[in-house]
Amino acid sequence: MIPFLSLKDITAKYADEISSAVERVVDSGWYLQGKENELFEHHYADYIGTKYCIGCGNGLDALIWIYRAYIELGVMQHGDEVVVPANTYIASVLAITENGLKAVLVEPDPNTLELDENKIEEAISFRTKSILLVHLYGRCAYTEKIGELCKKYHLHLVEDNAQAHGCKYKGLKTGSIGEAAGHSFYPGKNLGALGDGGAVTTNNKELADCIRALANYGSSKKYVFKYCGRNSRLDEIQAAVLDVKLRHLDEDNHLRQKVAAYYYDNICNPLITLPLRLPDENNVYHVFPILCECRDELQQYLTEHGVQTLIHYPIPPHLQGCYNSEWEGLSLPITERLAKQELSLPISQVINSKEMSLVVELINSFHLR
Ligand SMILES: *Cc1c(COP(=O)(O)O)cnc(C)c1O
Repeated sequence: MIPFLSLKDITAKYADEISSAVERVVDSGWYLQGKENELFEHHYADYIGTKYCIGCGNGLDALIWIYRAYIELGVMQHGDEVVVPANTYIASVLAITENGLKAVLVEPDPNTLELDENKIEEAISFRTKSILLVHLYGRCAYTEKIGELCKKYHLHLVEDNAQAHGCKYKGLKTGSIGEAAGHSFYPGKNLGALGDGGAVTTNNKELADCIRALANYGSSKKYVFKYCGRNSRLDEIQAAVLDVKLRHLDEDNHLRQKVAAYYYDNICNPLITLPLRLPDENNVYHVFPILCECRDELQQYLTEHGVQTLIHYPIPPHLQGCYNSEWEGLSLPITERLAKQELSLPISQVINSKEMSLVVELINSFHLR
């Protein structure tokens, strides 16, 4: 069986370094808010290219804290609107609605699967205050036009960089393009911890200070509480593990890019469409999505032949039960079509060439019965 993602192999690749990092923390007797966090935050801010990095509990919290800080600082108010791609993972949308803000779902471009720059302007109202730009599947979603729209309408650009650690746009890393970015270190992400973890990166000191306090009960001084915060911190063991894995991130992303290049160069089946190919630096291939009208048959065929695939994502946010009538009657044909056609192939830094060629062979010989 070729697994979709073997976390076991991914961890095993750096087992010695990871074990000694974990051991160091265990032996230190200091497990929260210590040197490991400080060091990792420093290294990650340097890597992304921002002044500040704040470790927090997970990627969803990172995004929640950004918008919560805007509200605390009086930059946004409950009821303000945030543009977000309709085909994103639910967490992007939850971060908006959790803060009493209104998520305005905008369709993706079917060729890139990223937020369609040409559909943003018509979604902007006098209450629109921000765009939450998701670099979905590891691909840079930023465009010059999006930057211009933010200027024109005074929108705060926030990036959801949960799937795109290391991705670049014209020499800038994603996560440093907007005013702030949320990052997830969920184990399956390109930079993954051995459990939950997340971070915010920003160049804005006020925002950074506020977020650091919010994620620590609302306190920046012991026993003094400025905000009604929560406890959402990155623990020392995860920070130490992430610091090890950060050192190998570029090399691991490069291996993913090689797998993607192999798929692009060799997958050839009229039933299958591949998203537009970008230069490698603009895509770190968190996911390798393909589109197929008979997706379910293709997935079943691959499963029967020993290749595990996933769907990102089978039900878009606007059709989820948690939002019952929030978007009743809203038609998002592209998003809904992608949910029916998308299939994610195995891709990672540990998949070998034999596995890659088997995936391609199977896909190329797939036909309708
Ligand atoms: C994983 C993910 C998140 C949430 O991260 P967690 O650490 O799992 O909370 C947010 N947005 C996107 C696009 C993601 O893929």
